Amino acid sequence: MRLVRRIGASALVLAALVVPAPAVASPVEVAALQSALQGLRLYSGFVDGIKGPLTQEGIRALQRRRGLAVDGIAGPETRRALGWRGRPGLGSRVMRSGDRGWDVAALQFLLQRAGQGAGRADGLFGPLTQAAVMRAQEAAGIGVDGLAGPETIRSLRSGAGGETEAVPTAGGPTGPVRFLRPVPGPIGDPFGAPRNGYTHTGVDIPDPEGTPIGAAGVGTVIYAAYNGAGYGNLVVIQHRLGYTSWYAHMSSIAAYVGEEVVGGTLIGYVGQTGDATGPHLHFEVRHYDTPIDPAPLLLATVAARAATAMRHGPAGGCDGQNRGGRDDWIAHERLCAEP
Ligand SMILES: [Zn+2]
Repeated sequence: MRLVRRIGASALVLAALVVPAPAVASPVEVAALQSALQGLRLYSGFVDGIKGPLTQEGIRALQRRRGLAVDGIAGPETRRALGWRGRPGLGSRVMRSGDRGWDVAALQFLLQRAGQGAGRADGLFGPLTQAAVMRAQEAAGIGVDGLAGPETIRSLRSGAGGETEAVPTAGGPTGPVRFLRPVPGPIGDPFGAPRNGYTHTGVDIPDPEGTPIGAAGVGTVIYAAYNGAGYGNLVVIQHRLGYTSWYAHMSSIAAYVGEEVVGGTLIGYVGQTGDATGPHLHFEVRHYDTPIDPAPLLLATVAARAATAMRHGPAGGCDGQNRGGRDDWIAHERLCAEP
């Protein structure tokens, strides 16, 4: 309500007390809204389910563009102005490959929160979303059909990583989230360093061109291609608990979308593709698609290709088994010694 002060705060506040605010309030709905605004290039923030100033500004920009009352509230009219991106509501249909819309974006956000990863929450139900739905169904012990119906949505909303922060399950590692160092060498430019008009969203680790890059922990590759926005040759790995790790400027990529990796799996080589002034690895960690400082999460261990002596356990089968008794998430979870 603070944001509508200019057009008669008292009357509007009173109205808001009488008429409940429209439905866009839960993190899942805010995420679907952010995804829709992002698709219309009205929102440049992250799809994180948090209704902050950027989200509010995106709503107002849409309202201005469509000649609606500019109140920063995503009511029914504003939802309609989003076109297909504003409908249908989550749970109103069984979503399947090829579908698009508000509910798909909400589903993708739920999958991210569950640590299953669907790439970007863009409202388009493509192969990555389908694979993520199937992983989530397998993890929840429900029928694995790749269709997102009521049961799947319910399990995503209520299960670990649903509406609440994912918490380690009993029997799993109990320690903090940690990542292996993808390459040797000290960190150069830190997280948050000022750049031209923005701040650095990762850390830069200078290394000679061609230095092998190892995955920072257990996960699934969800992006492995050239990225025109500055990352150059980029690999993104989805980990559990809503984390992704990003490896940019590679000279070449040695991973493929859908590949299951463990800490140390070779995923590419240091280079300077994209916006880079010299060979280095730009390493980024995101939590629910929001970049965070990876430095405090990095172990001293470099993700050398120790992975050859390890293998990825069957789904669920090796949870909680840590190499060398280490007790952290992502860096060492779900690793099983060769039989
Ligand atoms: Zn960088």
